[in-house]
Amino acid sequence: MIDQHGRNINKLRISLSEVCNMACTYCVTSLSDHKRSPDELNSDQILYLVRLLKEHAGIEKVRLTGGEPLLYPEILNVISGISEMGIKSIGLTSNGQLLARKAKALAEAGLKNVNISLDSLDPEKFKLLGRVGKLHKTLEGIEECLKNGLLVKINMVVIKGENENEIVKMLEYGVDRGVEVRYLELMAMGPLYKKDDFKLLDMHEILSRISKKYSVKPVSADPDSTSLRYWVPGGFFGIIPNKSAPFCSTCSRLRLTSDGQLIGCLSNPSPVSIRHLLNHADPEEALKKLVKKSISFKQDAAFTGSSLVMSRVGG
Ligand code: SAM
Repeated sequence: MIDQHGRNINKLRISLSEVCNMACTYCVTSLSDHKRSPDELNSDQILYLVRLLKEHAGIEKVRLTGGEPLLYPEILNVISGISEMGIKSIGLTSNGQLLARKAKALAEAGLKNVNISLDSLDPEKFKLLGRVGKLHKTLEGIEECLKNGLLVKINMVVIKGENENEIVKMLEYGVDRGVEVRYLELMAMGPLYKKDDFKLLDMHEILSRISKKYSVKPVSADPDSTSLRYWVPGGFFGIIPNKSAPFCSTCSRLRLTSDGQLIGCLSNPSPVSIRHLLNHADPEEALKKLVKKSISFKQDAAFTGSSLVMSRVGG
C-alpha cells in the first residue's frame, strides 16, 4: 500500500510476544517490564492476519521479532505458514540465546535470515548491558545459524562509554565469519525517552573509529533499507543512523503487536487494532481502511523519540 508520502509499505514486522529472556538496559528498566500480553495472538490468528495483509495490503516481506521471538512456542508454525503463503522473505530478529538449539528447525521451516543482537564480545560487559543472558550462548547461536545456511547479520547498539571500545573488534569478528555487522545509533525510546544522560555515539564517530584502522568506502544499500552500507577489506558493515541521518523517508514498514494492533510509525505510535477482523464478516474491506489509517500516522522526516518500549513494537 502506498502512503501519503509515496512510500510503498510492503514490510511487516511482527512482535510475536513481549516476553524476553534478556533485559537490555537501553530497552527496559528491568526484566519484569517484559510482560506477555493476556491477548497474545496464537499462530492461527497471526497467520490469518498475515494472509489478509499480504492479499489486501501488499505485504511482501515479514520479520519476526519481540520481545524474544524464540520464546513464542508456536514460532515454527508461524514461519512455515508464512512460507506456504508464498512470502519468500522471512526474517527473525533475536538475541540469539536460544538459537543454537533452534537454528536447524527454523531453517527447515522456511526462515531465511536472522539479525542477531550482540552488543559486546566481552562476557562481563555482555551481562552488564543485557542484565540476563550469556555471551557464549549467543556466539554459539551465530555459528549454528551459519551452519544451517541462514543469512546472519549482527546488530550492535553503540553506547557511549559502554561498548564504544568494541566497535572495531565487533567488525573483525563479523568479517572473520562473513557476517555483516550493523551499528545501531541509540534511539530515545522507552526508558531513554527524554533522558538527559542520553549516551549516543553518532555515526560519524563510528565511522571515524573504523577508518583509523581500515580503509572504508560507502557502497549502495537496498533502496528501502534503513542502513547505510560500507565496504572494508574482506567484508561489509552497516550503520543504522536514526539520529544522524534519519531514514524515515525510505521507511516501508508496518508493525503488528503481539495482541493484534498495527503501528504505522515509531514516532507517532497510535495503535490501530485489527484483532476484531478475526471474527469479521467482510474483513478485506475493513482491513484496507484500517491499514490506510495506520499508515496515515507515518511521519516523513525523522524519529522524534517515543515512550513506547521497543519490545512491544519489535526492533
Ligand atoms: N529480543 C530480540 C533481540 O534482542 O534482537 C528482538 C527484540 S529487540 C527489541 C530488537 C532490537 O531492538 C535489538 O537489536 C535491540 O538492540 C534494539 N533496541 C532496543 N531498544 C533500543 C534502543 N533504545 N535504541 C536502539 N536499538 C534498540
